[in-house]
Amino acid sequence: MTLAAPAPLFLDDHDPAASRQRCAACLAQLDERDPSPECPRCGGLLEAVHRRPRGADGAPLPPEALRASFAQHCCARPLGHPSGVWRFGALVMPAAGDAITSHPEGNTPLLARGALARYTGCDGLLIKHEGHNPTGSFKDRGMTAAVTQAVRVGATAVACASTGNTSASLAAYAAQAGLPGLVFVPAGKIALGKLAQTLAYGARTLLVRGDFDACLRLVQDASRQLGIYLANSINPWRVEGQKTIVLELLQQLGWDPPEFIVLPAGNLGNTAAFGKALREAHALGLITRMPRLVSVQAAGAAPFARGFADGFATRYRVQAETVATAIRIGDPASWDRAVRAIRDTDGIVTACTDAEILEAKRAIDAAGVGCEPASAASVAGVRQLVAAGTIRPGDRVVAVLTGHVLKDPGILIEMHQDGAAGANAPVEIDPTVAAVAAVLSAAA
Ligand SMILES: *Cc1c(COP(=O)(O)O)cnc(C)c1O
Ligand SMILES: [Zn+2]
Repeated sequence: MTLAAPAPLFLDDHDPAASRQRCAACLAQLDERDPSPECPRCGGLLEAVHRRPRGADGAPLPPEALRASFAQHCCARPLGHPSGVWRFGALVMPAAGDAITSHPEGNTPLLARGALARYTGCDGLLIKHEGHNPTGSFKDRGMTAAVTQAVRVGATAVACASTGNTSASLAAYAAQAGLPGLVFVPAGKIALGKLAQTLAYGARTLLVRGDFDACLRLVQDASRQLGIYLANSINPWRVEGQKTIVLELLQQLGWDPPEFIVLPAGNLGNTAAFGKALREAHALGLITRMPRLVSVQAAGAAPFARGFADGFATRYRVQAETVATAIRIGDPASWDRAVRAIRDTDGIVTACTDAEILEAKRAIDAAGVGCEPASAASVAGVRQLVAAGTIRPGDRVVAVLTGHVLKDPGILIEMHQDGAAGANAPVEIDPTVAAVAAVLSAAA
């Protein structure tokens, strides 16, 4: 695999543009409004590059001033913005101004739960719950940016391939922007909550007879030939929006970074976004120490973990199978930029079995927090790395939960039906106090 020599993180100070798009492979530059889904020259992935945030005098802002400007844009402050994405707009899409499609999104909580500290063996564990976003997953942070950009470039429709959450998010934001949405999902492999949302918000939903990887190829061909704006995770603006998960959690920690940031990894868009956020935050002096990124895959869909094990000498592709449908991806699109994220942060990639993921989900659910199966991979990964001695019990660790517990009701019904191990099956009774008492004494 070839990686381009590190290109500057920010635009040249003399460049009049607010942002440009740059090919990560050949470094070709495109106008920030170019709607190409990939580099027209070499087919490489595009990334957004911005000018350094500047003050009224035109000079780059020092870290304290930048932190203060983010704080000023918080909620009730004078320049308040209710979105946890657009508060960081100077690092997401500086030229967007007020012409944004925002629900709003972000501002998700950072939770400490004793039960999960005990479960993982990590006392300093914090949970960043992205399931608290408007459509119930972190995809909203990327989608607000991608749909904002679709409107800016005059798109007539937006499309994505998805394991479900991206389609739910695209459907909601396209509806808000008044654009037709078109989603490609693998037939029979999308969790019920996600499919239901996508239909409710009115996106045209295509159930493709094939897996996610087939959906991705199809949407790329279709958008190229039919001129539809592609809002997949290879879209550079999705990455920009998703960076704010990291920026927001750093802000919540007073810009004192944790030792580890742990996240589930499928198509690797989020791993790439986290790496870019950390590189930029470090270069701007917002943080002075790099947290280590930990990407956790499902064992049945772990090409990236396999790549990590051999020093990323090979780009692996696998036939993916896991109960964690959101990360059921065998040929991750953002491979190269995720490699860079892991390298730049002295990161780790690991894999957990479906049994470990579901056990972690049970612990998260039982703590009153709740998440969808894929999300639990992060907590399962923390537990695994504490057991291995890589994470020490006193380390400060932020584990990201990517999606809401109601996303996948099907698996909950399976886990809690009568007779399943550890099930909390509902009990049907006659409407009498004696029946209630009988249930309570049986439980005691
Ligand atoms: C999309 C998604 C992921 C995987 O993120 P990638 O960027 O594809 O690696 C994990 N969990 C949930 C709930 C998701 O929706
Ligand atoms: Zn290129």
